[in-house]
Amino acid sequence: MPTSSFNVASTAVPCPVVESLDAILPEEPLLMMGAGPVPIPAAVAKANTIVINHLGATMVKVISQVKTMARYVFQTHSKWVLGVAGPGSAAMEMAISNLAWEGTRVLSIKNGFFSGRMAEMGRRVGAQVSVLEVADRSVATLEQIADAIRRERPEIVTIVQGETSNTVWNYQLKDIAALAKAAGALVIVDAVCTLSTMPLAMDAWGIDAVITGGQKGLSSIPGVSLIAFSDAAWERVKGRTAPNAHWCLDASLAENFWHNAGYHYTAPVSGVLALHEALRLVCAETLEKRFARHLKCSVALQEGVTALGLQLYAPKEYRLNSVVGIEVPPGLSPGDVCAHISRQHQVEISGSFGLPIVRIGQMGEQCREHNLFRTVHALGRTMVDLGVKVDLPAGVAALERGLSGGK
Ligand SMILES: *Cc1c(COP(=O)(O)O)cnc(C)c1O
Repeated sequence: MPTSSFNVASTAVPCPVVESLDAILPEEPLLMMGAGPVPIPAAVAKANTIVINHLGATMVKVISQVKTMARYVFQTHSKWVLGVAGPGSAAMEMAISNLAWEGTRVLSIKNGFFSGRMAEMGRRVGAQVSVLEVADRSVATLEQIADAIRRERPEIVTIVQGETSNTVWNYQLKDIAALAKAAGALVIVDAVCTLSTMPLAMDAWGIDAVITGGQKGLSSIPGVSLIAFSDAAWERVKGRTAPNAHWCLDASLAENFWHNAGYHYTAPVSGVLALHEALRLVCAETLEKRFARHLKCSVALQEGVTALGLQLYAPKEYRLNSVVGIEVPPGLSPGDVCAHISRQHQVEISGSFGLPIVRIGQMGEQCREHNLFRTVHALGRTMVDLGVKVDLPAGVAALERGLSGGK
């Protein structure tokens, strides 16, 4: 008598009973006003529901348009634009692991948590990494950077445009890139937070690799990222003798998919379609108008928060506009504030890796007037609820003045 070799009753791991997403997710989605992910436009959300053949003619057309639009957003004529299945960190690792290897001299300008990550990635591929440590809440002077370049003779310099963790903006990026270039180094810029929220001109500034994620300035979904290499960087990628140990991140293999309509790994098609729509909306808006919207909204937010009676974390001169850091009043923790504003007001904001601040993002869809009013109100009310004296009407009024151009 034949018996089934698979006895259902013998499953060692019992079938679990879990709640459906409908039971888990809040009835009204939380307003995502933290340091990312950010709200996505309807067109991006819709694209993210579609699955198509990753190697078909439609995908080839989509990829071609993604590259064309990305060149505009990166401000580069370079052919070497590629997507990455993975977070912004995967794009960072793609830049580092393709351009640096055993013994490569890398100078990492470290303003905080994220710029330090590139140094760590450099060490992990065996590079000889020197770190220019910059004090919290400040930027390195051009002199300090020139000294470090003279001392370390780096083949690669890594730097972040906007250090999301402590909300510092490397406002001299163009001059820093020029210093590195003059010394013959390639420049890798982390623009995960900032791309499409403020000017970055890859070609004009002489940058060799720019990295971005989906879920920040571009207002797409997390998990699909973009990278652009200059011709000089691409030459280095192609000239290396030992292959990249990260097979998935090997730019030469990724070229098969992103430039030759061939197979590398199965691309996250839905996420690429979402990214296509996010980029299309950037192009429809134009970079000029998008930068102006981000600037206006972020400055108005900063004025609103200040008028509440709260302190901003970064000094004005190099304060990042894409993410605003706010000091948490004495007696409260960032966790208290984030939990209360989420629970009571359905607004999500972020803490920051042990710093005594909360952060409100101004990236993509976060820079909409209605989102700002709701956020400033929720923040002010949260402070009142938690026993901090703030002037809520003054905060909302300052926000309105900022948004309507001071009238
Ligand atoms: C968010 C962020 C990253 C990391 O992006 P992930 O998608 O979380 O990997 C890197 N750099 C900066 C500046 C960021 O803001």
